[in-house]
Amino acid sequence: MKEILQDKTLKELTDILLEMGEKSYRVGQVYRGLMRGKAISEITEISKDLKSKLLERYEDRPLKIIETFVGEDGTEKYLFELADGNIIEGVLMKYKYGNTQCVSTQVGCRMNCVFCASSLNGLIRNLTSGEILCQVLAVNAKQGGELGEKRKVTNVVLMGSGEPLDNYDNVITFLHSVSVEGGLNISPRNISLSTCGLVPYIYKLAEEKIPVNLTISLHSPFDEERKEIMPIAKAYSIEEILSACSNYFNKTKRRYIFEYSLIKGQNDSERHANALIQLLKGKPCHINLIRLNEVKERRLQSVTDKDAYRFLGLLEKGGLSATVRRQIGSDIGGACGQLRNSYKKETD
Ligand code: SAH
Repeated sequence: MKEILQDKTLKELTDILLEMGEKSYRVGQVYRGLMRGKAISEITEISKDLKSKLLERYEDRPLKIIETFVGEDGTEKYLFELADGNIIEGVLMKYKYGNTQCVSTQVGCRMNCVFCASSLNGLIRNLTSGEILCQVLAVNAKQGGELGEKRKVTNVVLMGSGEPLDNYDNVITFLHSVSVEGGLNISPRNISLSTCGLVPYIYKLAEEKIPVNLTISLHSPFDEERKEIMPIAKAYSIEEILSACSNYFNKTKRRYIFEYSLIKGQNDSERHANALIQLLKGKPCHINLIRLNEVKERRLQSVTDKDAYRFLGLLEKGGLSATVRRQIGSDIGGACGQLRNSYKKETD
């Protein structure tokens, strides 16, 4: 695989072009071309000579959309092909306030949560920061978006396949590159990072001075039961996660969010609701209830809407701030936990 130009920071891109003997005004032309989702060969402002020099070292298009599925509610699911033939998925959800893109951070995942499709084939590899960024660039371009205020992707959630904190450095670089003024300029305040709870990295993230919204996949208020559905719970207790979250709040002043996917007969009882209330009452957090999306390889059942709202009622009565997440994209396999990876075999 060649290198990926979208992995480079603006400063690194500047150095690369100056070293190639280019004038400094070329930097903006190349940068804006890339941020508009163009392949190197499609940047019309630059000479043939510069294009061929760049193409010797860098992938022309590190990620391309190979298929788009549109759901009944307008949600779009994309299949992206990477330069090495791996295929990842992404989703664009349309809301009144803008469009939220769900991006992947790894090909596959090694966290092995029992309800999720992303780790069915284990972790294949980390995505580079440029490959994470290119997902947003490609979808923004596809939606007719431009740079800055004219972008069509307004919010990003790191909730696709992969565990973002298991690919820490590349994810941090991505958070910087997607928010560059003069590029897409998506503020970290409009970005949510979801983790199954890699405690040391939650502390590290709090030091980055990037006010990204922290989301924790909790799914149970009991350590013993959490271990049964999320192997990572064997490494870090709920108490340790909560301490890391309070530290995150103290450092960033950002309220944190817990995701709680309701699995029939496993974590949806009154006992669970009461324990959640005990655990979280008075904390600067919000709880997002998700109805389990059934994954065919995983034998777990979802709850009914009625049960989800009953559970919500219990939490609210106990003084917690909570909502049931709108179920979107499930008809196109684009809902939480349904994203998976595949590999396209060489045909030529
Ligand atoms: N690895 C990160 C990012 C995944 S985000 C994390 O664990 O947070 C996707 C969210 O959907 C997580 O909260 C995840 O636990 C949840 N999820 C996974 N599979 C699901 C399923 N089948 N139904 C509902 N939610 C699911």
